[in-house]
Amino acid sequence: MSVGLTGGMPSVPAPPEITDSRSSTVGSHAVRRALPQRDRRTVGAWCFADHMGPGDYTEDDPAGVGPHPHIGLQTVTWLVSGELLHRDNLGSEQTITPGQLNLMTAGQGVSHAEESVHRRGHLHGIQLWVAQPDATRRGDAAFEHHAALPQHELANGEATVLVGSLGEAVSPARRDTDHFGAELLLRTGRSVVPVDRDHEHAIVVLEGAIDVDGASITPGHLGYLAPGRDELPFTASEPARVMLLGGTPFEARVKMWWNFVARDTDEIDEARADWQAGSDRFGDTGSAWSRIDAPETPWT
Ligand code: MN
Repeated sequence: MSVGLTGGMPSVPAPPEITDSRSSTVGSHAVRRALPQRDRRTVGAWCFADHMGPGDYTEDDPAGVGPHPHIGLQTVTWLVSGELLHRDNLGSEQTITPGQLNLMTAGQGVSHAEESVHRRGHLHGIQLWVAQPDATRRGDAAFEHHAALPQHELANGEATVLVGSLGEAVSPARRDTDHFGAELLLRTGRSVVPVDRDHEHAIVVLEGAIDVDGASITPGHLGYLAPGRDELPFTASEPARVMLLGGTPFEARVKMWWNFVARDTDEIDEARADWQAGSDRFGDTGSAWSRIDAPETPWT
């Protein structure tokens, strides 16, 4: 079909782009890192997506991560199964279970630990980061826990809205940019999700298999959809659990290294030095787990 030059034709959205997640580890546990990718640093303000597990852990090989710092981002922790205990230097101590949202805002600096709470168990979930805009990224750190979130019924499933809104369902979570995140629990069949035309979208499948506008997506991949769509048609060939992440393209090119989201290496060097020096900037989480040292930066 010829489009674009003839006038009067409706514009056809670009087809979904499917790329592979990168296999990595956190501690000794496997993760599938859907974001960032070399050619796609951000989708909206979403800049990091680690699909954790599903996997078992033991006392000798626990899930979770000891005290470490962040700047310039929000961490979004979302579990499918298992539990984690969040501790941060603001004094927060919060267990998270499936269906709940932990949202930590780093601003100019925060530190936290995410500990497994049992001697052995099973963990499956996703950790996402949202880049903070210039308007708030040098501001104070903060932490929110949302035990329950609004839901939106789909033809063959339901959406739980973590951040932003979907139809009448509006998340109470803090939002520093125009972004959106939901978990879709899909039954076999077709469900159409209304979306904001100005948003680009990332799709990360946690369980099952789906088709979106002719592209099949399974765990271990990133689906990307450019702005310009009013709805996304999902077809599930089996029950599926899907993270749908959207937003207006981010205002800046971010510089990410280790646990820091910044704009240049000077900001990262300063944050790294402050963490290594035990500066008040990052405080003390109170966790008994070992503090994680920053690696050397590749540019030094
Ligand atoms: Mn963290």
